[in-house]
Amino acid sequence: MMSATILDGKALAQKCKLEVKAEAETLERKPGLAVIIVGDNQASRVYVNSKKKDCEECGFLSQEYAMPEETTQEELITLIEKLNKTEEIDGILVQLPLPSAIDEEAVLMTIDPSKDVDGFHPMSMGSLLVGKDGFLPCTPAGIMEILEEYQIDIAGKECVVVGRSNIVGKPMALLLLQKHGTVTICHSRTKDLKEVCKRADILVAAVGRVGLITADMVKPSAVVIDVAMNRNEEGKLCGDVMYDEVKEVASAITPVPGGVGPMTRAVLMQNTIQAAKMHLKDKN
Ligand code: NAP
Repeated sequence: MMSATILDGKALAQKCKLEVKAEAETLERKPGLAVIIVGDNQASRVYVNSKKKDCEECGFLSQEYAMPEETTQEELITLIEKLNKTEEIDGILVQLPLPSAIDEEAVLMTIDPSKDVDGFHPMSMGSLLVGKDGFLPCTPAGIMEILEEYQIDIAGKECVVVGRSNIVGKPMALLLLQKHGTVTICHSRTKDLKEVCKRADILVAAVGRVGLITADMVKPSAVVIDVAMNRNEEGKLCGDVMYDEVKEVASAITPVPGGVGPMTRAVLMQNTIQAAKMHLKDKN
C-alpha cells in the first residue's frame, strides 16, 4: 500500500493568511486583536508570540496585555469590559489556561460575543450546537478547512473523535455532524478504544498522550487528524498518533508540527477579520 497523503496545514494556513491580508487591505481600518496573557506559562507565551506575528503578517492591529500571575479575576474582567467597548478592537482572546484562582468560565462569559474570536463564549458554543452563525473554535474549524481543501467527504462517513474537551473534541464532533458524518466521541472512560477507532473513516485524535493511536487502531485508508501537541522524551513536538507507522495504513494524515496547529492560527485571523467586518457594518 502507498504511504498516506500528507495534509499540509502549514501551506494551507499560509494561503488563508494571504487571503485575510488582501481582504484586510480593503477595509476602512485595520482589524484589531487584543490578546490577554496572565502569568508566565511558557507554552502560553509561545502561543501569544505567534498570534502577534500572525497579526503582523495579516496587517492587523495587535495589542498584548501581559498581566502578572497574581492578577485577580476582577482586574481581568475590568480589562475585558474596557476592551469590549474599545472601537479599534474587534477580537478579544484570553490565553488559557488561567491561574487556578481565576474562574475561567466567568472570564470567558465577560467577552462580548461579537468579539469572541476564540469561539469559547457559551453564546458561540450554543450557536454551533443549533447550527446558527457564530464564531467557531479555531482548532476544529481549521480541521474542517483542511478536510475541505483536500476534498475529503464527510457525509455518511464514520467519524471518531477521541477527546471531548469544550475547545476541541466536542465542537469537532458537532462540526462533523453538521456535515452529515456519523459521529462517535471517545474519552478516558471509553471501554474499547481500539475497536471504536478501527471503525473510523475519519479519525480525529485530540487527547494529549504520546503514542496513543497506533497503526493497529486505524482502518486501512482512513483519514487521520492529529490535534495533539505533546513533547516526547527527547523534547520534540509530537502528536497522539504514531505517525511513522500510521502513515503506512492511512490514506491521509496531518503531521505534527505542520498540520492542525498552523490552521488553528489561521482561523483566528479569519475570525478576527469577520468580527471587524461585522463591527464596521454595524457602524455604517
Ligand atoms: P483536554 O482538555 O486535556 O482533553 C483531553 C481529552 O482526552 C479528554 O476528553 C479526556 O477524556 C480524553 N482522554 C484522556 N486520556 C484518554 C485516553 N487514554 N483515551 C481516550 N481519551 C482520553 O485537552 P484539549 O485541550 O482538548 O487538547 C487535546 C490535545 O490537543 C492536547 O495535546 C493539546 O495540546 C492539543 N491542542 C492542540 C491545538 C492545536 O492548535 N493544534 C489546539 C488545542 C489543543 P475525559 O474527558 O474523560 O477526561
